[in-house]
This record gives sequence, structure tokens and C-alpha cells, in this order.
Amino acid sequence: MATNKKKILVTESMSEQGRALLNARDDIELVEFPNMIPAADFEAMLKAQAPVHGVALGATKFGEPELKASGEMKVVTRIGVGYDAVDVPALSRRKVPLMVAGAANSPSVAECALFMMLTLAKRAADMDAMVKDGSWGQRLCKLPYDLFGKTVLIVGFGRIGTRTAKRCQAMEMQVLVYDPYKAAAEIKGAGCEPVAELDGALSRADFVTIHCPKTPETVGLFDAARLRLMKPGAYLINTARGGIVDERALYEALASGELAGAGLDVFEQEPPPVANPLFSLPNVITAPHVAGVTREAVDRMSVQTARNILSALDGDPIRQNVINQDVLA
Ligand code: NAD
Repeated sequence: MATNKKKILVTESMSEQGRALLNARDDIELVEFPNMIPAADFEAMLKAQAPVHGVALGATKFGEPELKASGEMKVVTRIGVGYDAVDVPALSRRKVPLMVAGAANSPSVAECALFMMLTLAKRAADMDAMVKDGSWGQRLCKLPYDLFGKTVLIVGFGRIGTRTAKRCQAMEMQVLVYDPYKAAAEIKGAGCEPVAELDGALSRADFVTIHCPKTPETVGLFDAARLRLMKPGAYLINTARGGIVDERALYEALASGELAGAGLDVFEQEPPPVANPLFSLPNVITAPHVAGVTREAVDRMSVQTARNILSALDGDPIRQNVINQDVLA
């Protein structure tokens, strides 16, 4: 039945608090779609529901076909911050803002990066096994490491990288930062050491943690040649995006013992095939792309997403959360 309400499609992971904000408005109708909906089904759903005025995306891709199918799209939001699955120029051509959830999940991702560093350094799985399987006597053969006094290189000093830096400083680590788009003064002001060249800094770092976006510039940033520049025995953490690290090259570096371990929340292909060779290595810990998806973060992101949608529909989008600033002119 035709209605004057604005129709908003929301992915099923939007929390109750976010939905409540939208449902409190009598000019809005919510329609839910599955998180893992195939692209063709999503396009068909948009067509069937058209006109659709707003969408809150999880990982679903969104571009020209989806815009066309929506009819009257006014705002595209992500319940998150990464937007490599969204065709931003296509949205800009139609003057549709793309909005993200700001810093709502940044502390959660920073905690995950620190968690992965600690888990690897403290050899959590080995220690747990020694107690439970009766190999207590082996406990002095594989000593864990401290983060204290170690050097960490943070690649990308945005919402997450800055927070990871603070957490590493709390561990009394020396923090190097590589971010070609941040002023050295800002990095120094945060008590960190700016490095102008990634390659030169890699040999100094005991831990490298990636917090830059996936862009044409960063795809394959950690390829075989760059992994070889890392300090022998260092650890690599990727909670940013799959594809920034070349998984085949990482496997070689870990299997040969050049690197001591890796923590991976993100993969070139998601979900990754269970036969991914990296999963056969004992010095690799993984998570299913959930660094920014804690209970609290989902609530914060959902509420922020609802506010983003309302602000755009009411003609005054929250500017700092708009990615394609050109549409604001
Ligand atoms: P942000 O935009 O606040 O910060 C990104 C920083 O990376 C910026 O300071 C930018 O200048 C820098 N950068 C850009 N290109 C670079 C390059 N070539 N080398 C080094 N630095 C570069 O983004 P954020 O909120 O901190 O998020 C960072 C990334 O983390 C996101 O793009 C997203 O892909 C990822 N992420 C992952 C999860 C998860 O659940 N695993 C959750 C949230 C975000």
C-alpha cells in the first residue's frame, strides 16, 4: 500500500536502541534485510520496496544498481566506518550523502588490536594448554614476552590508530606512527614519533598494527617485499581490512620464521575458505571481522546510524560523519 512515510531499509544487526530512535518518528517506516543478503537479492528487494529513502548497511555492497533500484534514495549509512563496499562517486553523482558511524566502534577496534598483541606476546594458547593437558613441566621452554619497552608501529593515525596509540602507551611501549596525511606535529603532540617513510620504520618495530583504510594506495601495502623489511621476529596485526596484507606472502614470512606471529581480524576473502594455509600455523590468531562489533559498539553504532539518517532526512546531515563532503555544498 502506498504511504507518505519515508522507507528506511536496515540490516538485521541494527540494535534495538537504534531502531527505537527511528521508530519514535511517525514519518518513518523500517524494513529489515539480512546481514549476508546476496547482492542480486538486495537489488531485487530495493526494487520491490521502492521508493526507498534511506539504508543502514552492514557489509552489503551499494552502488549504481542499488541507487537505481531504490528510486528516491536520500541517505546511505553504514553501521560502521569502513566503506570500501560502497561506490562513493556513484552516490556523489546523485547528491546522496554517505554517512558512517564516526568513532562509535573505534575504542573496540583499538582494544582488539591490543588484545591480539597481548595474546600473541603472552603465548595465551600455549600457556592455557600447558596447564590443561598436563605439560606444566614445559613451561620454561617457551617463555612469553612483555609489551613493556617494545616498539610498535601504527599505520594510520585516525580514530582507531590514535586510540591504539594511547593503549600502547599505557603498556609503556615506544609508539611510532606512519600516516602520510597527518601532520608530524599532531603525532608528536600525542606523544608518538612520526615516521615519514614506512619502509625505513619497519625494521625498528616489534609490532606493526594496521589502522588505515583500504584504498587503491593501501591494497597490497604489506606485500612480500615490505614484509621482508620487518624486524625478524616481529608481529603483524591487521584489524583494518583484508587485502592490505598479501596473505600468501604473510604465510611465507610466518612459516619461515621471519615473523613471529600475526593477528588477523580481516581477510582477503570473507568468509575465508577454511583451507586458508594461514590457519594451519600455530602463530596466527584470528577473529571473524568482529573487532568493531562488540555489544557496546553495536549499540553505539546503531544509535549513531539512526541519528545520521534522521539528520539527512531532516535536511541537516551531521557534517563530520559525511564521507562525500562534496554533496554538502
Ligand atoms: P579514519 O579515517 O579515522 O583513519 C584512517 C587513517 O588512515 C587516517 O588518518 C588516514 O590519513 C590514514 N591513511 C590513509 N591512507 C594511508 C596510508 N596509505 N598509509 C598510512 N595511513 C593512511 O578511520 P578509522 O575509523 O580509524 O578506521 C580505520 C580503518 O579500520 C577503516 O577504514 C576500516 O577499514 C577499519 N575498521 C575495521 C573494523 C573491524 O571491525 N575490523 C572496524 C572499524 C574500522
